[in-house]
Amino acid sequence: MDTERFRQILLEERDRVSLTVETLREASSGASLEEESGEEAFDNHLADSATATLNREIDLTLEENSEHVLSGIDEALERIENGTFGACSRCGKQIAEDRLEALPYATRCIDCQRLAERA
Ligand SMILES: [Zn+2]
Repeated sequence: MDTERFRQILLEERDRVSLTVETLREASSGASLEEESGEEAFDNHLADSATATLNREIDLTLEENSEHVLSGIDEALERIENGTFGACSRCGKQIAEDRLEALPYATRCIDCQRLAERA
């Protein structure tokens, strides 16, 4: 397998996800500043404020997911370094290359992933 190609994919993905995490962080810190300065808005627009809170929660979930993806990418890069990239962490078989192309930081083959999701 061409791990060098996957290393490039992972590094690009890592850049992209890092940027997303940063953007989300800036967005959520900006939103809380805005809310603190707008006391009137809090009283008069409860519905709006509830929506804003919900939006921020979605952002935070995204941020958590992105950080999860980021650590997955780092682990995949480590696996490239130590030569275990592409091996299923459960059964040890080679993960299908098309699956790795879609999800380069996958740790399980499709069969084990399905088993894990069913459990
Ligand atoms: Zn497996």
